[in-house]
Amino acid sequence: TVTTRESLATVSLRKTFGGVTAVDDATVTFHEGKVNALIGPNGSGKTTFFNCVTGMIKPDSGSVSYHGTDITGRSPHRVARAGIGRSFQLCRIFPRMTVLENVLVAHRTHGLASLLKGARDADQIERARHWLRRVGIDHLEHSEAADISYGQQKLLELAGVLMAEPDLIMLDEPAGGVNPALIGRIGTLIRELNAEGRTFVVVEHNMEMVMSLSDHVIVFDRGRPIAEGPPSEVQSDPRVLEAYLGV
Ligand code: ADP
Repeated sequence: TVTTRESLATVSLRKTFGGVTAVDDATVTFHEGKVNALIGPNGSGKTTFFNCVTGMIKPDSGSVSYHGTDITGRSPHRVARAGIGRSFQLCRIFPRMTVLENVLVAHRTHGLASLLKGARDADQIERARHWLRRVGIDHLEHSEAADISYGQQKLLELAGVLMAEPDLIMLDEPAGGVNPALIGRIGTLIRELNAEGRTFVVVEHNMEMVMSLSDHVIVFDRGRPIAEGPPSEVQSDPRVLEAYLGV
């Protein structure tokens, strides 16, 4: 039998905020080498799940593992060092810094010392330019980040994520608020980076993008997965329609 290698996995992950159960005993496995989509109605716990997995918040219970190693409760920079990169729903960049500077300080999760050392290093600048070329905004390297379009800011954030050479990239709504031309470019880029061996977990509301981009779709409802499979199957799953329509 052919077995796919496990990338990120959670067992009975749970997070409550006061009386609200945001993630409710979620047991999920993402497979290595795939573009995985995480979809579900607003408030179904997708962002909280991301935050628990990447160390932004501590889960109340349950576990998170990466390639079989327990990473539950690790700080964001230790999660990053394990090889997991992420973007944020509301793009996180420094608006008053240039595009190039933004990519150089994207290593900030590795601590101030490495940040200061890294920013001076010619080699780092070369790598930053490499990733700016890859995401297609190298011509903007001297622009202030505040002056480029929102879609370009998302590409900038992705270039920063790529600086850490992650094996797993988690993207929170890469197409959200982005114009259609750039959505196509972001999709193509994800496909290329995946073909080079990177695994993706993508939270996305744009169903056209989810269906064309992903190998495997996991549907969240009320804090846990309720269905998963190839996009074509998940699309017609009655449980999924019910979750979205609330019938
Ligand atoms: P999604 O990303 O699927 O839209 P979220 O993870 O943002 O879902 O939210 C899941 C639930 O948890 C929602 O009911 C939301 O209101 C609640 N929630 C998320 N973050 C917090 C927080 N910091 N404090 C209180 N409630 C929160």
